[in-house]
Amino acid sequence: MTVLVFLDPKFPEGRLADAAVPQLMAADLGATRGDGVFESMLAIDGVPRKMDAHLDRMASSALALDLVFPARESWERAVSTALSKLLVQAGSGQAGSGEAVVKLLLTRGVEGTDSPSAWVAASPVPAAVRERSAQGLDVLLLDRGYDSTVADRAPWLLLGAKTLSYAVNMAALRYAKAQGADDVIFTSSDGKVLEGPTSSVILAVEEDGVKTLLTPELESGILPGTTQRALFDAAEAAGWARGYGPLEPAHLMEADAVWLVSSIRLLAPVTSIDGTPIPSSPALTEELTALLRGAL
Ligand code: PLP
Repeated sequence: MTVLVFLDPKFPEGRLADAAVPQLMAADLGATRGDGVFESMLAIDGVPRKMDAHLDRMASSALALDLVFPARESWERAVSTALSKLLVQAGSGQAGSGEAVVKLLLTRGVEGTDSPSAWVAASPVPAAVRERSAQGLDVLLLDRGYDSTVADRAPWLLLGAKTLSYAVNMAALRYAKAQGADDVIFTSSDGKVLEGPTSSVILAVEEDGVKTLLTPELESGILPGTTQRALFDAAEAAGWARGYGPLEPAHLMEADAVWLVSSIRLLAPVTSIDGTPIPSSPALTEELTALLRGAL
């Protein structure tokens, strides 16, 4: 069940559309070239979470692509319309845990028209997402082929933007699955830990009684994760220290625990890397998930 709402100046609350019939022109540059940006946001009980952080990041992704970003208010209204409709369609108690995936999408529109396409798609979070995370992830380290300083040197690679060109990320996941793994952590050609194809990487380390959360530095060409940031803020308020890379694979192997984190799946513990088991801690996963949920 998916609810679609297009941003449309003629409909201040957004224009509801039928997700079961075609809605985009075949020549839309989002479809033909992946020329657009998107966000995936969690909603719980009809309330979108971290909406400002998602809209901020989407606006900066749009800027990187020279796309005009529709007014935040239009997005907020379309999201609210979509979530109200989803609640009605699901009926009480039927939408699983009451959690929804809300996608915000913006493309350059049909070639030559100078008229972007912008819409919101809301659907229940599939139960499999939470089940998969609970089991722990076998992860492969895969070389992304760029060095960790390329983002600054080659802004046209759009490394810090969340564009619709995710074919490479999906190919990496298929490659990992073909090798019997569940997910991927990309490394740079100079051997630094980067991010997952759809997630940020977080490590916990305890030394001399100080508990620290670590993540690769943003300058290495990764997407600034809204979940990583919310978790770091909440953990710091709870007494954790925080730190940023550069990190190397050895840091992952030596950490007390490693997670892939993202808006929809929250914290998913990594249990092995390239076939080697690594420590994981159900107690830490529980503690940090509670901190994160409290911050959403
Ligand atoms: N890095 C990449 C490449 C992603 O695609 C995502 C989310 O989809 C993330 C990191 C995590 O971002 P967030 O926590 O904002 O969902």
